[in-house]
Amino acid sequence: MSDLVINNLHVRINEKPIIKGLNLTIPQGEVHAIMGPNGTGKSTLANTIMGHPSYEVTEGEILFKGKNILELSTEERSHLGLFLAFQYPVSIPGVTVANFLRTAVNAHRKAANPEDKGIPILEFRKVMKEKMEMLKVDSAFAGRYLNEGFSGGEKKRAEVLQMAMLKPEIAILDETDSGLDIDALRIVSEGVNTLRSKDLGVLVITHYQRILNYIRPDVVHVMMDGRIVESGGPDLALDLEEHGYTWVREKMENGELA
Ligand code: ADP
Ligand code: MG
Repeated sequence: MSDLVINNLHVRINEKPIIKGLNLTIPQGEVHAIMGPNGTGKSTLANTIMGHPSYEVTEGEILFKGKNILELSTEERSHLGLFLAFQYPVSIPGVTVANFLRTAVNAHRKAANPEDKGIPILEFRKVMKEKMEMLKVDSAFAGRYLNEGFSGGEKKRAEVLQMAMLKPEIAILDETDSGLDIDALRIVSEGVNTLRSKDLGVLVITHYQRILNYIRPDVVHVMMDGRIVESGGPDLALDLEEHGYTWVREKMENGELA
């Protein structure tokens, strides 16, 4: 089983505690959503899972495939089957989407088998074409420089395409709290829904309920002050939409939550 298991995670940034005892399990094959107000540590969690160096883990563990991944580099985590879609993807002038994808696919193959000579170009083109058709990406997209002059929606397309090519077992999608227009939301959602399978676990991180109109999660978690304070089915997202985060905060203060 390739579940992602987070136990009692504590994370600091610049000495300031942000994540304070977070517990979360994402089973392979399930789609989970984390919702929470701004500044609560959602992106900190995503970045910590991928091993961003600015985030200092002071306590706890993150287990994946029987390993505590906190001991691994970002690259090793990626090769192990974790995927993080960046909230703010960088552009790489001079590197086409196709080249970028081929480099990423080859790095994964080499990590799995040091003898690997890389995916043959024709095979690569065939697989990429299949994935692009599946995700309804225009064929001209492959020849463009990665993220250069991309709209928000195109950046998201590039991410979802990368996810389709790398076939992660756990994918983490950290959505911007404001920047994503409805088109971009739909692209991400359709992509995730297309890739949804028993082999893929997904963690969708979002401030707004609206993405969950498109991706129906199996489980919704509410994050407040650096911890998961409530978990439930998809209806929990609707409750949040209706009552807002103050409702959760009141429940917390009344001692009704963890
Ligand atoms: P969310 O994604 O839930 O909006 P973040 O994880 O981005 O929250 O931020 C959590 C807290 O960490 C916020 O108080 C934010 O100001 C702080 N923070 C985030 N990044 C940094 C940083 N690089 N340096 C200092 N504080 C940071
Ligand atoms: Mg964030």
